[in-house]
Amino acid sequence: MPIPVSLRGAPGSLRRKVVVACRLLWQVSFPVMMMMVCATASLGVAPATAWSVKPYRVLLVVEHWDDPASVVIEHQKDYFQPVAALLKAWSVPFEILRRDQQHLDVSCLFERSGQVRYGVILWAADNPSYRGQDLAVLDQAVKDGTSLIVADSRFLDPVLEKLLGAKFKGVYTSTDPLRVRQPHFITRQLAAAGMGSVETAWDFTDRSWVETTGAQLLIDQADHPVVTVNQLGPEISATWLGVQQLGSLRDSAYWRGLLFRSLIWSLGYLIQPNLDYSHSVEIEIDDWGAADKAFLSYWRYPEPNETRLRRELIVPLQKHHAVVSANVVSGYVDRKSRRIISPWTQNFIDQFGVRQDYTSARRGLLEAVRAGVIEIQSHGWTHMQPDLESPPGPWWTADLKGEASAGGWYVEFEDRRRGKEIPAIVQLSHLQHSLDCLWQDFEQHPLEFRPGGGAWSKSPVNFTPRVAASLGFGLFHAEPTSYYYLDHTLVLDLAGLGQEITASFDRPLNAGQWPSHPDGPVMLVFHDRDIALQAGFVDRLLSSLPAGYTTVSANQYVALLHADIDCAGGNAWQMAFDYGSRYCAYFDKHRSYWRLWLSDPVRKQLEALQHIDVYMDGTMTDRWGPSELARGTMVLEVPPGARRHVCRLEAAK
Ligand SMILES: [Zn+2]
Repeated sequence: MPIPVSLRGAPGSLRRKVVVACRLLWQVSFPVMMMMVCATASLGVAPATAWSVKPYRVLLVVEHWDDPASVVIEHQKDYFQPVAALLKAWSVPFEILRRDQQHLDVSCLFERSGQVRYGVILWAADNPSYRGQDLAVLDQAVKDGTSLIVADSRFLDPVLEKLLGAKFKGVYTSTDPLRVRQPHFITRQLAAAGMGSVETAWDFTDRSWVETTGAQLLIDQADHPVVTVNQLGPEISATWLGVQQLGSLRDSAYWRGLLFRSLIWSLGYLIQPNLDYSHSVEIEIDDWGAADKAFLSYWRYPEPNETRLRRELIVPLQKHHAVVSANVVSGYVDRKSRRIISPWTQNFIDQFGVRQDYTSARRGLLEAVRAGVIEIQSHGWTHMQPDLESPPGPWWTADLKGEASAGGWYVEFEDRRRGKEIPAIVQLSHLQHSLDCLWQDFEQHPLEFRPGGGAWSKSPVNFTPRVAASLGFGLFHAEPTSYYYLDHTLVLDLAGLGQEITASFDRPLNAGQWPSHPDGPVMLVFHDRDIALQAGFVDRLLSSLPAGYTTVSANQYVALLHADIDCAGGNAWQMAFDYGSRYCAYFDKHRSYWRLWLSDPVRKQLEALQHIDVYMDGTMTDRWGPSELARGTMVLEVPPGARRHVCRLEAAK
């Protein structure tokens, strides 16, 4: 929420601008700021522009979190996963307060300075987790500038009722349409998208019946409020979203749009990646370096050599301006020596009479890295059971026509042959080997980990994504539907955003029928096998993508998810993009683009200034005039550099 409280300008324009400034002063600390501006103006000194910006941080209040250690969020166990995943996908900074372990008090909601810590509280808790606890502190935070959004909750507390200007009455069932009742920023997109009235036929689920006691009614269903907003101050609001389950906020364009615009309305602004994920695909090619292709009858093919890689991978990727992941296995399980050795020293004729030249394959991969068309990621270390000795092994000497061909041997992070998990320490060791070897072989730090065969351990102690997170991976992806955001404190299931597709040369691609989501790319996997066994596969695949599709690379996706965005006021509206962590290495050599959304009141404040100058890292890069500002959304371009970048918005001089 940028609030210009006084303005710098030519003397002739001072009077008009001070009037504008005073009109904008109904923000926070009205009397103090009013006095400051008027005093400055009456002294005849060119006043400086001061901006008050709402904290760019969301507090997600949840009732219960399955992980007692508050690290892992899973879609099967944590009802709030859809909202956490959306906030992460939108790059909106958020923290979680779990009512089953934490007490909502001043230490949560206020900074040491006395300022509120959050721009908005997203309340997704329901009775009885907060019954009997005094929520007066919430009232204080809202008074001091924190907005409130309540979703999928009966808000059975007098403070919540007062703030929302509404009261829960009971349940009801109705199949009447949902209707937008009055124009408002939060519902404007619905009307524009022809969803001013939407049918709910055959939806007999129970809904919350509330009565308004002061709130504006934005959407109703047969006179039952469905979305309400209570404007508590010019930039402070309390919004109720009568969604029946949080998953709808992610899965329904209707509810997703309402949450997104409620956040903009509550914060005054929002900054999200300027990337159309609904037309993006993140492509991964598995199994480079794996040993099995030289001896498994049902998975045999030559490792593509340098020449083939140039023709079948590098050229088509360049032609389509695509960047993909090569998921590499850097530990070669050698049945001859019964050791784990480097794949990249292997050049031999296999038992099927096929030349296997891994030395050449590595040269081809290195060339593709230099050409900027592939990124090296981890597919584990060996793609095989860590224990190749115990019964029903040893695998080393077992018959390849029988026991040694059993699929359970060929996965690494779950013991499918013996029906067990892989202990965390063994996973840790294999992943560390993978990291070390990929650095030795390619001088690359992978940020994505894909366990072979989609096999991984799921109990809390052996939870594979958490093990990967502890080693600095930023993304975990295992078919058929598992992909997780990872950092050192959070392992967040992104299920329901990106859709997972496995392609192969001998099956129809059907790219036109892939499901899409605005908040995550399609995660597409195929194998080096497809390049080995069909000439032109990569070109055919990329040519089949629907119009407008582009690739988002794994490192780019990880960088976007991990970008640390912070906003502050002062003599400008400052937006800092911190790319200093290793997760954001992609941005060292690449520009990044962010979309800034403005609420109506904030947009009007900027419009009142006529022109806004945009400075990026101290250099003026743009000037927004009335026509740009009228759109209410702009794109910010951040230059390359894996460091902190600061964008400043100032009133044009
Ligand atoms: Zn694999």
